[in-house]
Amino acid sequence: MEHQELDGLLAGLAQRDERVVELQSALTACKALGPDNGGRGELAKVRLITGWLEACGVRDLQRLDAPDERVPDGLRPNLVARLPGADSRTLWLFGHTDVVPPGDPAAWTSDPWQVRREGDWLYGRGVEDNQQAIVSMLLLAEELRRQEVTPALSLGLVFMADEESGSDYGLAHMLERSPELFRPEDLYIVPDAGSPRGDLIEVAEKSQLWLKVRTIGVQCHASTPHKGRNAFVAGADMVLACRQGLYAAFPQEDALFKPPCSTFVPSKHDANVPSVNILPGSDVFYLDCRLLPDVPQEAVLAEARRLAAAVAARHGVEITVDVEHAQPASAAPANSPVVRALERAVEQVYGVRARPVGIGGATVAALLRRKGLPAAVWACIQNTCHQPDERASISAARKDAQVFAHILMQRDAHA
Ligand SMILES: [Zn+2]
Repeated sequence: MEHQELDGLLAGLAQRDERVVELQSALTACKALGPDNGGRGELAKVRLITGWLEACGVRDLQRLDAPDERVPDGLRPNLVARLPGADSRTLWLFGHTDVVPPGDPAAWTSDPWQVRREGDWLYGRGVEDNQQAIVSMLLLAEELRRQEVTPALSLGLVFMADEESGSDYGLAHMLERSPELFRPEDLYIVPDAGSPRGDLIEVAEKSQLWLKVRTIGVQCHASTPHKGRNAFVAGADMVLACRQGLYAAFPQEDALFKPPCSTFVPSKHDANVPSVNILPGSDVFYLDCRLLPDVPQEAVLAEARRLAAAVAARHGVEITVDVEHAQPASAAPANSPVVRALERAVEQVYGVRARPVGIGGATVAALLRRKGLPAAVWACIQNTCHQPDERASISAARKDAQVFAHILMQRDAHA
């Protein structure tokens, strides 16, 4: 019986290309920019999504809005839709409604806010990031209701705000306000990263440690360098000392990640003196460290300070190292049920063997994992997000929905 119902769902979803185009076009036209990007927020988009869900008969809708005076409506909307299954255990899917600005309009072939279709491709701001997820979530809900199927697992759809600017008004707010919504035995998929063949499942993220390195020397006229202490030169020496010393001190490798090691990257550099003829007495640069889960942040900070003391002594300056920002690593066990269910479903729909990977970047899945909720990040996407001519495949949207249908309909597989 469940097999027949799954086959019916898969067949129905296979016919939904035109619906993908309709949904993508309407969503893109909403221009859902957050206030950090000079926009009016996500409410218009969430009203559209609500309307579609109501129209197909989804009744359990809940809003978990975050107040935000910077937008005209005074709130950032977060919507939770639930479709009950035979089991109260829930497959949760997450899509973020906000998008990033298009950047230079001249870099686009056509209007970024108006979807352009070319064969299987749709072009427009947001079509990949993250509307492909939103569309596959909506297709699945519509097909379940149209065929009046009660799935094996319950389905939870989360449409969240503010992902592009840190999620404080989005998923972080929801987890804070309604932690009881999400249970450890549920399955969590965030379709917001992946590969063009659908063969990567992101299960872990390195920790982030951003260090601010300040060098204090003695400023003087550049024509009399013997009267000063050049902080720029000492800072540059510290850049090289960090590059050599930190990689040497933390050489651990983990094949799950690419690159497999911790990384230590000198990145931003503050402006120093306004004039060429001034020998700088102060220098500030930053180090972006991405650490494997078993490399303690305190150990890296201590090693950076040890290197700083040696460089400072060589140059007769003072060097301080402070933490600018820190975020712990997060991982879902690579053998957790959601990962195994995804592997099976991806093989059925896309005909590829997906493998778990770790990344150095950060996704909202980390927020879930840190609450003990095993979240996997997966989608079949081109990785054109934030670029001009961002694009998404029509068939991938419905196939992703088929992957989720497989997982939703196969209760026994998760035991
Ligand atoms: Zn995204």
